[in-house]
Amino acid sequence: MMDCILHLPMRYEDETQVTAIQEACRHPAGSVQIEGTIQHSEVQYRPRKQLLVTVADDTGEITLRFIHFYGSQVKQLVTGKRLRARGEPRGGFFGTEIIHPVYRMVSENTPLPTELTPVYPASEGISQKTLRRHINTALEDSPLTDTLPESLLKTLKLPGFERSIRFLHHPAADADVTALSERSHPAWQRIKFDELLAQQLSMRRARMARWQQKAPPFLTVGQHTQLFLDHLPFRLTAAQQKALDEIRQDLKGSYPMQRLLQGDVGSGKTVVSALAALQAIDSGYQVALMAPTEILAEQHYLRISEWMKPVGVPVAWLNGSMKKKERTPILEAIASGDARLIVGTHALIQDTVSFAQLGFVIIDEQHRFGVGQRLMLRNKGSDDLLLPHQLMMSATPIPRTLAMTFYADLDVSVIDELPPGRTPVLTRLIDDSRRDEVIGRIHAAAQQGRQVYWVCPLIEESEALELQNAVETHERLTQALAGLNVGLLHGRMKPAEKQAVMSDFQSGRIHVLVATTVIEVGVDVPNASLMIIEHAERFGLSQLHQLRGRVGRGSSASVCLLLYQKPLGQVARQRLGIMRETTDGFRIAQQDLEIRGPGEFLGARQSGQQMLRFADLEQDGQLIDMAADTAQKLLTGQLPDSASIINAHLDRWLSNREEFLNV
Ligand code: ADP
Ligand code: MG
Repeated sequence: MMDCILHLPMRYEDETQVTAIQEACRHPAGSVQIEGTIQHSEVQYRPRKQLLVTVADDTGEITLRFIHFYGSQVKQLVTGKRLRARGEPRGGFFGTEIIHPVYRMVSENTPLPTELTPVYPASEGISQKTLRRHINTALEDSPLTDTLPESLLKTLKLPGFERSIRFLHHPAADADVTALSERSHPAWQRIKFDELLAQQLSMRRARMARWQQKAPPFLTVGQHTQLFLDHLPFRLTAAQQKALDEIRQDLKGSYPMQRLLQGDVGSGKTVVSALAALQAIDSGYQVALMAPTEILAEQHYLRISEWMKPVGVPVAWLNGSMKKKERTPILEAIASGDARLIVGTHALIQDTVSFAQLGFVIIDEQHRFGVGQRLMLRNKGSDDLLLPHQLMMSATPIPRTLAMTFYADLDVSVIDELPPGRTPVLTRLIDDSRRDEVIGRIHAAAQQGRQVYWVCPLIEESEALELQNAVETHERLTQALAGLNVGLLHGRMKPAEKQAVMSDFQSGRIHVLVATTVIEVGVDVPNASLMIIEHAERFGLSQLHQLRGRVGRGSSASVCLLLYQKPLGQVARQRLGIMRETTDGFRIAQQDLEIRGPGEFLGARQSGQQMLRFADLEQDGQLIDMAADTAQKLLTGQLPDSASIINAHLDRWLSNREEFLNV
């Protein structure tokens, strides 16, 4: 029932007024409704089959033109019949006409509606009429009691629930149509607030429930840590240290940490996670680090084992393409507890993997994983009563409104500074016709001992085409860059092949790496200082930012060339402009949210279900603040009857819906 009532109009039509035909013809401006009697009606066959209906009132005449029509319409629209028609009048060759008006037959004394007509979102096959009938029945039958007390609504300056709902389904003729369609009307505000409040309540409850769960506390930061730091070739930045301190504090606790470590590309999240891992290992627990691709997982493995060598912590490496012979001893080491830190891909969550004592899981590039996958890793904890702590890492900064809503149950640490000595990447937009110049730049970079990435375009329609294109680009560049070693990396290669290419690039044997977007995630080759992205206009902002983050990792000045093909569309132009202007991941993410909406950020988290139907993260920042504040007050019992308000509210908004839970 409530579902029906909360099925709210997407827009409204004003059928409450009739415009005189003469007026409609003289000042055609937007949609109007006219009423009149049919003077003439005929099907014409030239230049194409169409139905022409002339309608007149006391003031004038207008033509209704139907290019698609049914036989039943021809029978219905006959001379002498009266109708109301809505649409946009336009000057045509034979006078003013409305093409494909919405119309209905009326009699002389059919009253005009006194309310705006709601238009509901509908799936195919359900008419507006049926929807309206169902909704109106629901409105009559169900009590629309308010879940929030009068006093609270007064403080929040929000109207009552029943009033808002009835208004949105049946707005009075004089209602502010703009406020209604922009959803800024107080009635909309109330509904959006309710939705956001439900979300805040359930997120915060989930967080409180987490405090009831138990995790192993890692009480000491042992001597391993000092040894690790002594051998590290650099010092942590202040931001890294701060994030690490926050994580350490959580790991000492006896309820499971659920923390997101967020830091721009290249800010140095890996070393922070490795240090956090030591705390668990020093307390006798195992740590699993899961990364979304083999290239990335292996890179972590190599780098972290290097760091761990002086400390003497054994690091294991598990991936999906290992042969059984390789895999068996590793699985045994994981099961026996000999392996203390295990780095891997999705392979880590397979059934065959069982840990001796998993106390801490780290998930890199967390948005690449689904909720289910993250849960599976967490459930590898060996003790049913103790959950592992969880650290998630992401380079995608979360805009504030998103952090407050969908990520509200996570604690967040931010690394907001890059390691010293990096020079910001200079970004240039280059018209595709100036490729020769680009080849020249590659030669120059190679001469200085620098390496180059060449990213091939994204071809959304076809992976095969994408591949073919990468292979051809590789051939062309090999010819154009005589004397240089050009490598190729793409998603269809076997993991071992990929790894061979990557390590050749890492060691400098390959000068120019032609790659598809497989390099997007986390790859780290500090000597690469030139990146060329072909058809940059086809990429999304976050993706461009991730790709660009592959250079600018060493101390030499890096350049990113965005090759584009003319003509550029509006959105593409906007995106590339932002890329040229800034390297600030946060600004880029904010812009991306504005251009694209939250889908991109939420990824698998949202798993297809739009969790916010009404509220808009862009527009409703203030409502989000209000809802967060109110949720907090209710959950801490600061308002009278808090508990029953919470129950009633969640009951209304969350019954039949998946909880807004994070795992
Ligand atoms: P991301 O946050 O994108 O995952 P990484 O952890 O891959 O970044 O770090 C990027 C590079 O910076 C690595 O080569 C890493 O060893 C190096 N690095 C990390 N922290 C520092 C630091 N404090 N000083 C200098 N280099 C650092
Ligand atoms: Mg990383």
